Amino acid sequence: MLNKDLLLSLERIVGPENVLTEQSDRLIHGYDATQKQYMPDVVVYVENSLQVSEIVKLANQYNIPILPRGAGSGFTGGSLPVQGGIVVVLTRMNAILDIDEDNLTATVEPGVVTAHLQREVEKSGLFYPPDPASKEFSTIGGNVAECAGGPRCVKYGVTKDYILGLEVVTPTGDILHTGGVTMKNVAGYDLTKLFVGSEGTLGIVTRITVKLLPKPAAKKTMLVQFSSIDSAARAVSTIIRNKIIPTTLEFLDATTIECIRGKTGLPVLEKCRALLIIEVDGDQEILEKQTDKILGLLTPLGILESRVAADHTEAEAIWDVRRSVSPSMRKINPDKFNEDIVVPRSKVPDMIRALEKISSTYDVPIVNFGHAGDGNIHVNVMVDLQQPGMQATVDKVLLEIFQTTVDMGGSISGEHGIGTAKAPFLRLEIDPATLHYMQMLKKALDPNNIMNPGKIFLETSPEQLAFPTQLQDDPQ
Ligand SMILES: Cc1cc2nc3c(=O)[nH]c(=O)nc-3n(C[C@H](O)[C@H](O)[C@H](O)COP(=O)(O)OP(=O)(O)OC[C@H]3O[C@@H](n4cnc5c(N)ncnc54)[C@H](O)[C@@H]3O)c2cc1C
Repeated sequence: MLNKDLLLSLERIVGPENVLTEQSDRLIHGYDATQKQYMPDVVVYVENSLQVSEIVKLANQYNIPILPRGAGSGFTGGSLPVQGGIVVVLTRMNAILDIDEDNLTATVEPGVVTAHLQREVEKSGLFYPPDPASKEFSTIGGNVAECAGGPRCVKYGVTKDYILGLEVVTPTGDILHTGGVTMKNVAGYDLTKLFVGSEGTLGIVTRITVKLLPKPAAKKTMLVQFSSIDSAARAVSTIIRNKIIPTTLEFLDATTIECIRGKTGLPVLEKCRALLIIEVDGDQEILEKQTDKILGLLTPLGILESRVAADHTEAEAIWDVRRSVSPSMRKINPDKFNEDIVVPRSKVPDMIRALEKISSTYDVPIVNFGHAGDGNIHVNVMVDLQQPGMQATVDKVLLEIFQTTVDMGGSISGEHGIGTAKAPFLRLEIDPATLHYMQMLKKALDPNNIMNPGKIFLETSPEQLAFPTQLQDDPQ
């Protein structure tokens, strides 16, 4: 039961109409794309950073969790109120404050929807590259908190590469300004980088300055079909080794292709076992040369068919193939464990082979697709959890996938973050000393552990932050 005084104080800060306590209101602010559901104690809609600061101070005073929330589209449980508390919704802080055409920057509030920012800057011939597939609904604040990526990141990098400065309300309610609006800035520690990707555990981002690029003049989209995943994987390394960095280099494996067969406007050949969608951008004449060069490199690798889109409509038909993947997957099984491992680019073929082996060892379908160009593979373990013992099998499958990824020098998450979903696996990748320093940082900024608790680390209560025993043990 929420403390009455706390409720009154919240109403005083944002107005009673912006404090929601009805069960139905709390219910619809307690889920994300993991399809898990938790109940917050109260939901608060904010309009400025001063309100956010006052609410955070209250949360400290009453020692109650506080959860920043954008669109709630996260894949790893980042916005879930796993310990109840105050959900702070940032979607009404959605102003584009400035598009600076002289300095190629934009300053925005965190609730701006990513695609909206992209469309607005494009009106001035500018370009904000990070393009999560959720861009039509996810917020820039959520993108910053997760360091979101997307297909274009092969060439252009991820969200952190575009963040110049932030305004952040810390877990004790102070308002910080990190970085600035300039391309260079080495004054003091780079706190901007610390907050980007911190999954709402170190503070609430209330203002963001992003770097923009000139909008590329044109792009060309290709769909290439292969008879084996090996030849597709060789194609990826051949392109990169020849120093061509396409804008996107997406792949679909054989199981994914089976899911989408007959569901797209474009025919997928019967013999096709792997697909690449390749896009290049830049000046028209360079594009023609790059397209020819890529097809020239791929032809000896045994492609079944290649198709270059003649115009925007054909390019969209190619992208429909990729977009049809997620909706088609449940054809295999109703429950999906959606992971986003990343391995060094050269290891993509080895990782795909390892995934095939894990799939057959445990007799569990694994559907793989994603951003081959940067080694980021979306691994979907498709199961029916109603089957007896299936959850235990999934646990083993995930552990093996993550361990294999780490053994290859990769990471358990390329863009979706750790949240609650991957917290049990973080120790596979991060050594105890590094993990301990991360937790000390968290404790220094958030002494009462109120800011999005229960995320990233399994041990989130201060008394569990003791130095890891592994370091104290006798090494023998
Ligand atoms: C269909 C679909 C496709 C997707 N495709 C991609 C993809 O291609 N690439 C990719 O990277 N992700 C993808 N995602 C995942 C998700 O959309 C991203 O993680 C996105 O960045 C989350 O934004 P959001 O506004 O929904 O944040 P939320 O889900 O609301 O929150 C995500 C995390 O950010 C924190 N947070 C939110 N706002 C703030 C703030 N202002 N300050 C501090 N912390 C904050 C929350 O506490 C939480 O920990 C996809 C999701 C879906 C459902």
